[in-house]
Amino acid sequence: MAGDFPPSVIRIWMDKLKKGVGLPATVLERSLLNLMSAESASLSVKNATEQGILVARAGGGRSKRLTLAFCQKVTRLPYSPNDPFCFECHLPGVVKKCISCVRSFHEKCQRQDPEKPNYSVPSDKGQPYQFPVNESDDEPLNNTQNLEIPQTPRPLLDHNSNIDQTLLATTDFLKHENFEWDDDVFFVCEQKGARQRKLPRIKDELQSSLDSDEGSDLERCTHCRLLALAALHNPPQLDKQELGCLLKYSWDQHHSWISMDVAKYMAKNWNERDKALVKRVLFKTKILGLRDIEQNIAAEKYTYLTEFLMDLLDLQHNMAMFFGRKSVEYNATKWLMRDVTHDIREIRRCPDCFRYSNEASLSDLWFAKPCLQRHELVFAKQVGSPPWPAKVMSVSKRQPIKYDVRFFGGTHSRALISERDITPIESDIQSYIKPRNSRALSAAIRELQCHMMLSHYSASLFGFHADPTVAENLIKVALSHCTESTETSASGKRGRPPTPATPGVARRRRLNNTTSNTASPVPIRGIPDSVAYDSLTAEVQQANNDLLKCRIELSATQKKLAEVKRKQWCYHCLDEAVFNCCFTASYCSVECQRRDKRRHQASCQVTH
Ligand SMILES: [Zn+2]
Ligand SMILES: [Zn+2]
Ligand SMILES: [Zn+2]
Ligand SMILES: [Zn+2]
Ligand SMILES: [Zn+2]
Repeated sequence: MAGDFPPSVIRIWMDKLKKGVGLPATVLERSLLNLMSAESASLSVKNATEQGILVARAGGGRSKRLTLAFCQKVTRLPYSPNDPFCFECHLPGVVKKCISCVRSFHEKCQRQDPEKPNYSVPSDKGQPYQFPVNESDDEPLNNTQNLEIPQTPRPLLDHNSNIDQTLLATTDFLKHENFEWDDDVFFVCEQKGARQRKLPRIKDELQSSLDSDEGSDLERCTHCRLLALAALHNPPQLDKQELGCLLKYSWDQHHSWISMDVAKYMAKNWNERDKALVKRVLFKTKILGLRDIEQNIAAEKYTYLTEFLMDLLDLQHNMAMFFGRKSVEYNATKWLMRDVTHDIREIRRCPDCFRYSNEASLSDLWFAKPCLQRHELVFAKQVGSPPWPAKVMSVSKRQPIKYDVRFFGGTHSRALISERDITPIESDIQSYIKPRNSRALSAAIRELQCHMMLSHYSASLFGFHADPTVAENLIKVALSHCTESTETSASGKRGRPPTPATPGVARRRRLNNTTSNTASPVPIRGIPDSVAYDSLTAEVQQANNDLLKCRIELSATQKKLAEVKRKQWCYHCLDEAVFNCCFTASYCSVECQRRDKRRHQASCQVTH
């Protein structure tokens, strides 16, 4: 059984002893000096030799010195059915075996809450980025000169955690992943109804079985404890397909924390035999790599959110054993876990919100879509801004009560707001539509109106399995109803500007109003204006003259036209002529000829 040396020495030795190469014990001891004292290093080599991991071999060549090689027979390597390394701290020692699986743990390492790690990972929200410093890593170091400086992976933008940073800066709230904020939040529901996600029945059974069986928490590993709670902590009505979609969004965003995993390292550096030897010594479960997790997500393997978390814990344990607890690779898993755990919490709060915000690029009004889980709608007041419409994501149970809200409009930012700054939104929000509202607030209220309108439809129309075109059409209809109110508020704004940019602008606007309302404007503003007035008056006079000339021309042309017509049409009524009297007159009818007789007699060229 492997013990008395940290598991990561196996990887270090194998790198030196690839393909059965033998090296003097002193070389193997020296390779460990980054991790431990010279004394511990020589003890580690001695222990590994006693356990049969390293085997003595007569050196070739002239030196004839004794060398150590990695044991080449898998079956001769020490083997124990249970993991000799603690699932929490990844070190050997007196470990307790889990009653349900092959994992082990130190009793003192056991987590209080299986979802909360014992190490602390500071949140990078609202504070400069720092690589985590882990207190539990404080082992004695004899040689630090070769320590790698950890590279800091670039944190990715998290659409779901854009908690207002200015708020954080002032209140110091949530600076660290803190335990004050109770994750086990309750939802405030606008209305209870058939559309609500139903809580699973399994909850009661599980809860009672847990209550009666509290002692088993000390007998089981974190992995098994999580499994027992998986169904209880899963959002109701979240099927494998939808879960696969949500996990993909989370994984795509966060997997880049880790660039190297155990499987990748082995494939890159070792041959199959060396891989098999190391696997036999170190790993009890399947060596889970990044690609395995990606494939599990793509294949919709996960039934529960927690199963995903459990796989990541295995990945983390494997990497800690393989690369060492101080390695960049292992530290990166802490950041991955932090971000994924955050997403898991978000998905538990509202799977629809998580999906909508990850699909924000597909719809302009994604925030107006209703969720199966109805969110209470409130006006939340922040320092320096008017009460702003928001959805309540969760409410803390503890005093002082804080509302975790997400605002309508703009970037849909999140904030924690004290209970006293929260006003529930009445069904009629017309009173909130004021001409004084800023453009941003008007847009936010319009989005709120759309949301309230869309909430009358079944949320399943917007669900994961729904036809997106139906949802888009509903949104379009809602939007067409909601735009009118902002139009009126916008026109009201023109009449009375809320905050004039400069006093001059406002005065000019007032002057424009008076000129348009007065019938005969009087020039009142000095010489330049009276000059302009005179020239304008002259222009008007000129235009009138031109108009008169045109009218004269027009009547002359009309007269000429009538003359021409009279030659071809009835001289009397200008209808189409049917017969000619003589070549100076034609008529449409005898009647017209008779009426025109008195005028025409004088000029008629035909003798009657
Ligand atoms: Zn431990
Ligand atoms: Zn277990
Ligand atoms: Zn939601
Ligand atoms: Zn006629
Ligand atoms: Zn005639």
